[in-house]
Amino acid sequence: MKQRIADAHVHLEDVAEGKFRRPEKMLDAIASKGVTDLSLLAYMPFSDVVSNLRVLYWKKNYKKLRIRAFGSFHECDIYKDVPYEKQYEKLMDLGCDGIKFIQMKPDRRKVLGKGLNDPSYDKALSAIEEDGTPVTIHSGDPESFWDINCVEPWMIERGWFYGDGTYLSCEELYAEDFKMLDKHPKLSVTFAHFFFLSNKIDEAKRVMETYPNVKFDLTPGWEMYLGFSKNIDGWQRFFEDYSDRILFGTDSNDEKENIGDLYDLVYTALTHDKSEYEMPIWKHTVKGLALSDGAVKKICFDNYVRFVGKEPKPVNEKLLLETAEKMHSDIKDDENSAVCAKWLEEMLLK
Ligand SMILES: [Zn+2]
Repeated sequence: MKQRIADAHVHLEDVAEGKFRRPEKMLDAIASKGVTDLSLLAYMPFSDVVSNLRVLYWKKNYKKLRIRAFGSFHECDIYKDVPYEKQYEKLMDLGCDGIKFIQMKPDRRKVLGKGLNDPSYDKALSAIEEDGTPVTIHSGDPESFWDINCVEPWMIERGWFYGDGTYLSCEELYAEDFKMLDKHPKLSVTFAHFFFLSNKIDEAKRVMETYPNVKFDLTPGWEMYLGFSKNIDGWQRFFEDYSDRILFGTDSNDEKENIGDLYDLVYTALTHDKSEYEMPIWKHTVKGLALSDGAVKKICFDNYVRFVGKEPKPVNEKLLLETAEKMHSDIKDDENSAVCAKWLEEMLLK
């Protein structure tokens, strides 16, 4: 890749499912691709109560990359009753650079029974808006996840079939996002996975025009790149027109094997000419967007720095340790949190 890269969207896998791995191998692979900056996004802690502390820990301790930490609110664990605005304050005090919301992914939205437009989020979102803190939201999923004719057995197994009538439709999810944005128009927000709009160019333009502080990231789902290919001239124009508001991202996590290929996949989609080629992973045939050098530079790096700020915030080590100690005593008798307690003992409290 000829361009300096900042990755707006990287995860650490859930420890609470019994997995307890260290991300150095993933982070080394990312650094070796010429990436200099990335954001580690905490998943909304369902059972992984240490998720926020883990992104902060690796931000502080991994030195080959400049890491920003995006925390997320406790929704289903022992801290779920702490008001979101208090949680936000704490995350900022700890040294988080931004906030990640996965609440609008259809399965999470179903469990929560409310969207981000719910009044319980108002105070936190107003503070986030006022501070200019960057926010990344995963809302929706690929359209095919609602369609029984497109869904594959493994997706049903993972709970990724939403067409049985118990989930909100994509339109209903978007309607809640727009209600939230109408309340918080200055929120600096990136919708992950291109807001799942790669088959809806007119709607993508409408969103960009209506909400000037909204950005999209390019994290695969590969289906997004098939969508671009179906209208490559239209999307090329879109990318050039909105080249200030699109962010490079891979959705890498420490469970994925082919980290390097993910970077090639996103970068090639931007830079390849409009002829067909085979994607480095998943092997679908797609067309490149053939963007100008200026647009590629903005999408790969400049937009990220404008979104998250020039320097990562320092991690408050004293508060991190205190928080870890308190958390450990809060969860140590809970069987379901055994892996999280072990993580605290081995990483932060040793
Ligand atoms: Zn993600």
